[in-house]
Amino acid sequence: MSERDPILLFGDLSGKAALVTGASGGLGLHFARLLARYGVAVTLAARRKAALDGACAEIADAGGEAQGLALDVTDARSVREALEGRSFDILVNNAGVSGAARAADLSENEWDQVLDTNLKGVFLVAQAAAQRMRASGRGGAIVNIASILGHRVAGGVSAYAASKAAVIQLTKALALEWARDGIRVNALCPGYIETDINRDFFASEPGQQLIRRIPQRRLGRPEELDGALLLLASQAGSYITGSTIEVDGGHLVSSL
Ligand code: NAD
Repeated sequence: MSERDPILLFGDLSGKAALVTGASGGLGLHFARLLARYGVAVTLAARRKAALDGACAEIADAGGEAQGLALDVTDARSVREALEGRSFDILVNNAGVSGAARAADLSENEWDQVLDTNLKGVFLVAQAAAQRMRASGRGGAIVNIASILGHRVAGGVSAYAASKAAVIQLTKALALEWARDGIRVNALCPGYIETDINRDFFASEPGQQLIRRIPQRRLGRPEELDGALLLLASQAGSYITGSTIEVDGGHLVSSL
């Protein structure tokens, strides 16, 4: 074992099983690849299983263990059926939608879609995963992907900001109730991270203006979330529960 062996810091994650929701692209796929590189058997979940075939094959080709799972986080029945007979040590509650619209124009449908996915979905999957973590007697680690918009606001994202603030409070409530079962529940709050979905926006003038308001004057890269994700998911975070970790280039402390 070399001195730089990640096992020294994060403990041995091989033999663990993880569920990552919303894993067909973006940060979810990144987290699934990351955990697989650390020897975790990863279940990638998305509404359409076919959307996961390429990612699972790619992870397997790289020597990892991955399988796809059809799961709509907004649908309690889908969550129940998808998790039937499965057990996980780690849950990354990543599925989310943004729903950008001015509050005055926000439709009931858009509101419901954002809250159902970002808040109810996080709860349903956490509840189902925790039942199995409890039954296994091994406990587990749940990492909810919130956002710095759960702490502060911006224009045009009222439903999203409300949903992410609620996820932070839900994280704390679940951490309190489930600590006795050995289940840790924490939230990771990314700032603006460049992914395929937002690359075009950040190349535009409004996007560039936004970047200038980030103290580090740049977007985050997905891999800059790795340390925080692994800390919360692994033994290295064994005494951390009910916490949030912000990874945002200082955006939350930008000048008012
Ligand atoms: P993304 O749109 O690429 O990923 C979201 C994923 O969630 C997609 O794969 C989508 O298919 C899935 N999803 C949506 N509704 C679903 C449902 N009902 N059931 C199952 N899966 C569903 O966006 P992303 O940037 O990768 O975001 C991932 C998470 O990180 C989200 O929760 C997002 O709010 C959060 N986040 C992202 C950023 C960022 O800058 N990229 C910043 C802060 C927080």
